[in-house]
Amino acid sequence: MKDTTKAIHAIPVDPLTGSISVPIYQTSTFVQDSPGEHKGFDYARSNNPTRQILEETLAKLEGGKRASAFASGLAAIDAVVKLLQSGDEILAVDDIYGGAFRLFTHVYDKFGISVKYADTTEAENVFNAIGPKTKLVWLESPTNPTLKISDIETIAKIAHANGALLCVDNTFASPVLQKPITCGADLVVHSATKYLGGHSDLIAGAVVSAHDALGEKIKFIQNASGAILSPFDSFLVLRGIETLHLRVEKHSANALKVARWLYDSGFADKVYYPGLETHANHEIAKRQQSAFGGIISFTLSEDTEVAATKFVTSTQLFKLAESLGGVKSLICHPAAMTHKSIPAERRRHAGVADSLIRLSVGLEDADDLIHDLEQAFITLKENKTTFIHQN
Ligand SMILES: *Cc1c(COP(=O)(O)O)cnc(C)c1O
Repeated sequence: MKDTTKAIHAIPVDPLTGSISVPIYQTSTFVQDSPGEHKGFDYARSNNPTRQILEETLAKLEGGKRASAFASGLAAIDAVVKLLQSGDEILAVDDIYGGAFRLFTHVYDKFGISVKYADTTEAENVFNAIGPKTKLVWLESPTNPTLKISDIETIAKIAHANGALLCVDNTFASPVLQKPITCGADLVVHSATKYLGGHSDLIAGAVVSAHDALGEKIKFIQNASGAILSPFDSFLVLRGIETLHLRVEKHSANALKVARWLYDSGFADKVYYPGLETHANHEIAKRQQSAFGGIISFTLSEDTEVAATKFVTSTQLFKLAESLGGVKSLICHPAAMTHKSIPAERRRHAGVADSLIRLSVGLEDADDLIHDLEQAFITLKENKTTFIHQN
């Protein structure tokens, strides 16, 4: 059976009623026949039938053994960090999601969990940086916003040889494009807010475990800490998953077309998209992913925040907002939005230039999206000409 069919039929028909869509069990508790004797559900923080179906579906999608659904992507990341103990070290990709950076540095540091960053696009850097204290290696591939790709299989081997777990944040690729567990990862996390949900209408997260024992530990933490996903949001993510393959394929096809246009038109300065032959990690992206995803970044020839602000406020179809992975195209200026809290020097060093613009390419017609970008580039150019004339 092909992946697309498997994903759609991983979501079961309700055995009680035949309902083809998953029922929303909006309840806090479950009636017991006698103390401790029940139908597998006792209290809805511990287990809820709607959430359980989502969790089983996510485990199948990622090729894992167990999954746990959380109230946000960050709650999922938090659950993974809670596997560690004081004195342990995390070795993480340097171009890490800002929220994960904040959690590692500003929450867990005071509990004695340290974090070290490396450019993981070269597996050798992981080999050199990993040490006896490293208990968790943390990857994102592709990263946000410069779309760096790391070799999951090689890094999994390095982590395991050092007795560390490998966790991959698979938010950008989604299980449609890559399955880190089949490459050797022990854990996969998702911000289901993005492609899994896919409609910009919820906040959700998940952890998928490659082994039962690890899945049990995450489940224990999920119940003990309590950041569970609600039944309604579980239903919405399930509904998103029904069209995940279709959406991600279209997001990827649209993005490839837009990226090629950006590159060929000469309007942009640098274009970052793993599907372009000019991308530094194109070869590994081709080997590791089935397509290149819906996110593109580029810089302007005038590398200033002023120019970027003008550009992101000139598009009509691309809406100016944080987040990604939804049906509608979004545009974002990381230096002033998602990456504002990172000191300018550190931010620029990570490749996030002042004029860097990130696109989440949606499901509109690609030619309409290109036309929208073209008119924004022309507006920017005209604006600059006027500026020069006035001086
Ligand atoms: C958005 C995002 C997160 C955080 O997820 P939330 O659902 O916003 O908590 C984590 N990792 C990546 C790569 C993201 O894009």
